[in-house]
Amino acid sequence: MQEILEAIQEGAPGDEIAALPIPESYRAAHVLRSEQDMWEGVPSEEKDPRKSLHVGEVPTPELAPDEVYLAVMASSINFNTVWTSIFEPLPTFGFLDRLGRESVWGARHARDYHVVGSDASGVVLRVGSAVRNWKPGDRVVVHCNYVDDQDPSAHDDSMLAANQRIWGFESNFGGLAELAIVKANQLMPKPEHLTWEEAAVNGLCASTSYRMLVGRHGARMKQGDVVFIWGATGGIGAYATQLVLNGGGTPVGVVSSPDRARLLNAMGCEHVIDRKAEGYRFWKDEHTQDESEWRRLGKKVRELVGEDPDIVFEHPGRQTMGASVFIAKRGGTIVTCAATSGYMIEYDNRHLWMKLKRIVSSHFANYQEAWEMNRLIDKGAIHPVMSAVYTLDQVGEAARAVHRNEAEGKLAVLCLAPEPGQGVADPEKRERIGEDRLTLFQRHARGEL
Ligand code: NAP
Repeated sequence: MQEILEAIQEGAPGDEIAALPIPESYRAAHVLRSEQDMWEGVPSEEKDPRKSLHVGEVPTPELAPDEVYLAVMASSINFNTVWTSIFEPLPTFGFLDRLGRESVWGARHARDYHVVGSDASGVVLRVGSAVRNWKPGDRVVVHCNYVDDQDPSAHDDSMLAANQRIWGFESNFGGLAELAIVKANQLMPKPEHLTWEEAAVNGLCASTSYRMLVGRHGARMKQGDVVFIWGATGGIGAYATQLVLNGGGTPVGVVSSPDRARLLNAMGCEHVIDRKAEGYRFWKDEHTQDESEWRRLGKKVRELVGEDPDIVFEHPGRQTMGASVFIAKRGGTIVTCAATSGYMIEYDNRHLWMKLKRIVSSHFANYQEAWEMNRLIDKGAIHPVMSAVYTLDQVGEAARAVHRNEAEGKLAVLCLAPEPGQGVADPEKRERIGEDRLTLFQRHARGEL
């Protein structure tokens, strides 16, 4: 891998990169099938990803014709890596086994280890015989929609493909590693004003927020819309906040500390609710919700912006869905992509049907949506929300911080990149866009805001 890293750092041309030998094994963050029952009886919040995420050598798999070997310079922690590492709601080995039964190439994935990670920035090392649009030496970022393009159901909206998967979660050989196997239709050009680690944090979260809010499959946000955003400085929330501001809407951002409220203000979000300070208790007990608390939240939003939200950006799930359905405007949209606090959801259906609201489900993004999102980042309209950088050896620690809701925005992980700050190939563009805007979350994490 050292030879590969040196070639990348020296800017070696594609033919030289193509001639470099692919190592027989590589370092990767992975969980083990033999440990999938290790947390039996342990409450979710006490499960520690540092114990289940291992970093070590794994054998390099063979390359399928529609894939590339990618030298991964950096990756990021997503919540799906947290789910994999705590084996909730299911161990991900079941996904790998199912993929393993689909085809000869799929069979490579059903292993006793699962290399995780659904984001990456890096350099293409080799391309399979069916790859047309990419070549060795290309500097790329990866989106995690993993589909079989020979499946007819993948050809309207690829998120509707019968066998759609999330790379590095429902497939093996993911991005938290020095090498990854990626389908050619997951690749996008790296925005060259960004460092490797800044470029690596956007793919999954930014594209998810794009589809939820902007894409024609989501809430179809329009100019002037009021958008209520849970977790507005979190991974998907921080991109949602930027998309609303960039698209001429008014975000109402929810956070859980004055410190996060300050960060949100610094992003340009004027209307902020600190849910901890307000002390909302939407559930009186495990079985009963408190409608007066929903009303209190709705009143707060009206005080702030003078009207109800056109769109509610929902992902905490059980804890908040009742309130989310309640506070949306008549005819408004609740768009949901997750259920961090529990997936058995309860809301008062009268508030949905009598006020003609709709709940829109959303999951990641198709290639076109991910590409559009990457284009916005490339134009400098949306910025990475990277707050800290970890090494591959610290991957468990980073996943633990996300699991414990200790991190803002995104945590990057250096894979082959030896230190932060490398990989900017267009410094003029970086200067034009502005260091301050690109490093807002890092400066906040360092206490500089
Ligand atoms: P994250 O970085 O941890 O941010 C989530 C934020 O939500 C937290 O910062 C927290 O903000 C807020 N939050 C957490 N629990 C809450 C609760 N009970 N009530 C209200 N707010 C709460 O995670 P993320 O990357 O944004 O992901 C969020 C969820 O979306 C995860 O479940 C993830 O798996 C899912 N997701 C799904 C997709 C998809 O394609 N379907 C894609 C990406 C993520 P405050 O404490 O500051 O309020």
